[in-house]
Amino acid sequence: MTALDPVQLTTRLVRHNTVNPPGNEQACIDDIANILSDAGFDTELVQFAPGRPNLVARLGSGCASTPPLCFSGHVDTVPLGEKPWSFDPLAGEVRGGKVLGRGTSDMKAGIAAMVTACIAERDRLSQGPGVVLVITTAEETGCEGAAALVRTMDLGPLEGIIVAEPSLNAPYYGHKGAFWLEAEATGVTAHGSMPHLGVNAILKAVDQIRRLQGFAMPVKGDAALGHMTLNIGRIEGGLNVNSVPDRCRFTLDVRTNEHIEHQVLLATLQAFCSTDLALTKLIDIPSVWTAPETAFARKVTSVWQQVTGQGLPPPTAASYFTDGAFLQGKDKSTPVMILGPGDPALAHKTDETCDLARIYEAETVYRALMSSA
Ligand SMILES: [Zn+2]
Repeated sequence: MTALDPVQLTTRLVRHNTVNPPGNEQACIDDIANILSDAGFDTELVQFAPGRPNLVARLGSGCASTPPLCFSGHVDTVPLGEKPWSFDPLAGEVRGGKVLGRGTSDMKAGIAAMVTACIAERDRLSQGPGVVLVITTAEETGCEGAAALVRTMDLGPLEGIIVAEPSLNAPYYGHKGAFWLEAEATGVTAHGSMPHLGVNAILKAVDQIRRLQGFAMPVKGDAALGHMTLNIGRIEGGLNVNSVPDRCRFTLDVRTNEHIEHQVLLATLQAFCSTDLALTKLIDIPSVWTAPETAFARKVTSVWQQVTGQGLPPPTAASYFTDGAFLQGKDKSTPVMILGPGDPALAHKTDETCDLARIYEAETVYRALMSSA
């Protein structure tokens, strides 16, 4: 088997249209599974939904003192958007030192680099603690694939997880949690000419939104993930001009740090709001934080320094969420670092690209991680 090039693999993966919704990740996942299986990895597909499998690939069986390292990424991408692209977003063209297309930075280049790195290190991996690759579907709609995977499969002990989301190969130590809620105010409908006979749900919702602007977060910010935030992102209510609306819904997007359980936050918000405002969970993604002094963070950052020759920047976190939130385990016992070749500023954008040099650098960092004791 000739060595697989991570840039070539990126272009190949970009040509699989995995725009989510609907996802249609099967062909892309099968392609990666076949490559890994041909290279001697044990592969297992775990369906999230029909035609939407997560892939778990393993090599080596771990050893008593060190469990395997885990690499993770998702194959689905966000839609292409309304704006026209200046190149074909699904052709996987290479031009001007970049690979072009939807899902290059976020995050098929990261997957390609981890797959080729693991294959290049396979002799070493089959002898030592080994490696687990977790390649998921349905991440862009709220880590649904990874959440389903950990409900059905125990990944076993892991040394740590590298999530190859875009970071320009800088090590990120985590990200905030995302807790999205829908709030519903109900009222009583009446003819628009007789509003005194109804109860206006829109006005109730507006009162609650005003009140929420004064909501004091129950926990303080910290140096790691900063302050918690709350945003009202969407509102809808009423049927027509001449009726009193009996229903109004709005959404809350709360970004959380390490100091609060989402269930506690929900109870606090519900107690703060009026009792007739019903709060329902839409997305519940825990925060991730790996303290810089932990053994895994020290290993990743020291390998990164050796490969890049750069001094270590102050610890930072990603602005987006990742599958690491679920793969770290309910008790958050598995350390997670985010490190991938994509540019976070290009993720989800029109004319998304990824630098070829970053892809090769990511492969080198991943290989160095697997060869470092
Ligand atoms: Zn992503």
